[in-house]
Amino acid sequence: RQAELTELLKERIRDIPDYPKPGILFKDITPLLADQATFGMAVSALAARYQASGARAGDADQGAVTVDKVVGIEARGFILAAPVAYRLGAGFVPVRKKGKLPYHTHETTYDLEYGTATLEVHQDAFTPGDRVLIVDDVLATGGTVRATIDLVERAEAQVVGIAILLELAFLQGRDRFSGHDLHVLLTV
Ligand code: AMP
Repeated sequence: RQAELTELLKERIRDIPDYPKPGILFKDITPLLADQATFGMAVSALAARYQASGARAGDADQGAVTVDKVVGIEARGFILAAPVAYRLGAGFVPVRKKGKLPYHTHETTYDLEYGTATLEVHQDAFTPGDRVLIVDDVLATGGTVRATIDLVERAEAQVVGIAILLELAFLQGRDRFSGHDLHVLLTV
């Protein structure tokens, strides 16, 4: 079942050379999203580890933790995070590029694989103590997830997991949040 999912993901993530800049091999997930079976399996697999079982983060048993909020990172993260939140019975919180959120925000600026970026989240998006799952499509340098962890922690909420569709292992992004529970569906 895991092997089957891995094959489907590999077949339906398309490599686009030199996008959006020369030297970047862009991983295009739109063929995966357009295929109902693969999209559904990917969402289920991202959610499965965090499906409510009554266990809590830090419990002695290593079972699933309860998630209060799922964070999606603009823009492709939204597409995956919203159905994961629905599946988990959790709330959804958007982390967006600067200037897109209408209310008071926390913000953080960081380096990307291509360029820099500022991310924002609403100041009232989390309740202190919320158990938060971060979802994104691609883990590259890890800067985006690192910045998102910082935004969650600034609200005194707790990151209980990071669920990623595709990890680009050669960029060693995972080293930037080694203390966190990182769950990746496919590594290249
Ligand atoms: P990073 O902060 O370097 O881990 O970059 C992660 C963010 O940029 C994710 O939100 C990805 O959607 C996007 N990204 C970075 N590199 C790529 C790539 N090679 N292909 C597709 N998306 C990428």
